[in-house]
Amino acid sequence: MAQELDKKPLLRVIENPIWSPTRLDLAELCMKAYWFQYVFHMKHSITPDIARGKLMHRMIEKFWQRDERSGLLVPGYSSYSAFVNSAVRDWRHNFAKTGETDGQRIEWDFRGQAWSREFIGNLAAMAGRVYSRYLVEEPRLATEVDLKVTLDGVRLSAKIDELRRRLTIRDHKSGFKMPKEHYLDKNIQMTDYSLCLWLSLQDERSTASQVYPGYVGIPLDEFLEVSTIEVHHLAEARPIDGRREAMTRIYSAKRTERSFEDLIETIHAKNKSLQERDFHPTKGRHCEYCFFRNVCNSYNPHDYHENEYERSMPLFASAGIECKSFAPPQDKLKKPRLQKSMIFRKSLF
Ligand code: SF4
Repeated sequence: MAQELDKKPLLRVIENPIWSPTRLDLAELCMKAYWFQYVFHMKHSITPDIARGKLMHRMIEKFWQRDERSGLLVPGYSSYSAFVNSAVRDWRHNFAKTGETDGQRIEWDFRGQAWSREFIGNLAAMAGRVYSRYLVEEPRLATEVDLKVTLDGVRLSAKIDELRRRLTIRDHKSGFKMPKEHYLDKNIQMTDYSLCLWLSLQDERSTASQVYPGYVGIPLDEFLEVSTIEVHHLAEARPIDGRREAMTRIYSAKRTERSFEDLIETIHAKNKSLQERDFHPTKGRHCEYCFFRNVCNSYNPHDYHENEYERSMPLFASAGIECKSFAPPQDKLKKPRLQKSMIFRKSLF
C-alpha cells in the first residue's frame, strides 16, 4: 500500500495537441514550463495585472448590449462614470475580496495592493479610456470568437476578442509595455488568429463564415490584403507634458504568407519535441516571471514518464538538466565559530 502511495502518476503526453497561441508561446519560451502546465497540469497563480486584464476584457464585452426592441447593439452604460464605477465595483467584489478569478489565485505584489488607491486609480483610468474609445466607434461584428482549424496535419485554435468590419481582428492588451514594431510584425498570437480566420472562411459552415458571409472562400492573397490585425492597448502610454491619455490606443499590423509558413514550421518543431519528450528547461530572464520558478527544480519530467520507456522512446535526453540558479544551496552554511580565546574572554563577564 505504502509503495502504491509512493508511486508517481504516469503522465500522458499529447503529441499533436490543438495549439493555442498561449500554448505555443509557452513551448517557445521553455519546454519544462510547458510540461508543468500542459502535461503535469499544475495549477498556478496569476499576477494582479493579468487579473485586471481579465476584468477589462469582461467590461469591454459588456459595453455593447442588444436593444430588445430594435435588436441593435447599443452602449450598455448611461455615462462615463457608470462604466468606470461598474468596473471598480466588479474589481472590489469579484477580485479584491475573493483574491482569485476563474479558480486561479491572484498573487499580490504586496499586502493591500488590491485595495490600494494606486491600483484602483489605474483601473478606473483604464476603464475610462476604454469607455471613450468605444463610445465613438461602431460596434464590433462578433466577440470572443472560438475557431479551430487543421492545416498540414497541425491543429490550431484561436479565441479572438473581437471581429470587426473588413476582416479586422482585434485583440485587447492590458500590459503596460507598448507594443514595438517587432512585436506587431512577428507576434505568434496575431499570426495564429489571422491564419485561423482565413482557414475558417474556407468552410461555409464555420462561425467566421457566419460573421463574414461576403468573404467565404476568399483566396489567401486577397485575404492578406484586406485583413488587418489590431492590437488594442489599454494601458496608458507615458504621459506627454503631464497630460493623461483620453483614449486607448490601436496599433495595426498585417501578416504575409511567409508568417503563416513560419508558424506552421514552428508548430511542427514543437510537435517533434513532444514526440521526443524533450522537456528541457530554458533558463533566462523570463525565469524571474515564470509561475513555476519555485518548483522548477523539485520536479523532473523524467520521473513521471516511466511507461514511455517501454515503448522504447529515444527520449529525455535533456529532461534532467537543472536550472542552477534555482537549485538548493549545495554547501551547508557554516556557523561562524568563536575562537577559544574569545570564548574564554566571554566567560570572564
Ligand atoms: S523557472 Fe525557467 S527553466 Fe524553470 S520552468 Fe520556468 S522558465 Fe523554465
